[in-house]
Amino acid sequence: MRVPTLPTLIRTLTLTNITATLPRLPQSPFANGRHPTRLLLRSMPSVPFLGSLFGGQQSRDMTDYPVKKGEDEWQAVLSPEQFRVIRQKGTEAPFTGEYDRHMPSEGTYECAACHTPLYRATHKFKSGCGWPAYFDSIPGAVTRHTDSTFGMARTEILCSKCGGHLGHVFKGEGYPTPTDERHCVNSVSLKFAKEDREGKSGV
Ligand SMILES: [Zn+2]
Repeated sequence: MRVPTLPTLIRTLTLTNITATLPRLPQSPFANGRHPTRLLLRSMPSVPFLGSLFGGQQSRDMTDYPVKKGEDEWQAVLSPEQFRVIRQKGTEAPFTGEYDRHMPSEGTYECAACHTPLYRATHKFKSGCGWPAYFDSIPGAVTRHTDSTFGMARTEILCSKCGGHLGHVFKGEGYPTPTDERHCVNSVSLKFAKEDREGKSGV
């Protein structure tokens, strides 16, 4: 009888053990695409719990942003809530944000992370959705990319300067605005400045 070499023996035993002990994975309840919370999620910027469950953070886009900081550096300069929303694509609870019902006649909303002007006060409108809503942004200040978490295509909006998560943009909802777009933004991603800071750079 031929004695197997040690590496062959180990490989054989390991493979046998793995095959014998592999559990049968239960089928995902969402595998058929009929996500029970799909409708609930439609108007929300993102949902942190489900986001982490479904690997939402893996959807972070790889665009090269001018302001570069490591996640530990961001954590050092942002509050825990800002870090959760801006860097981890979280969502503040609806109707709770500082700027939800904030309707100044002039001024600028800047990125809370890098202070780049993003929206004018005159872009803001009352949507009733529970988050600050803008029908347009300062040209070039906001970057869009497709967010396919939860099995649906939504358009995420990010600060063009630092890549900070702002929320999502929705189109064709019928709001009486010049663009019929709603930039649904987390208040915590923004910082309001009374003066007109458009054109001024951030960090
Ligand atoms: Zn920014």
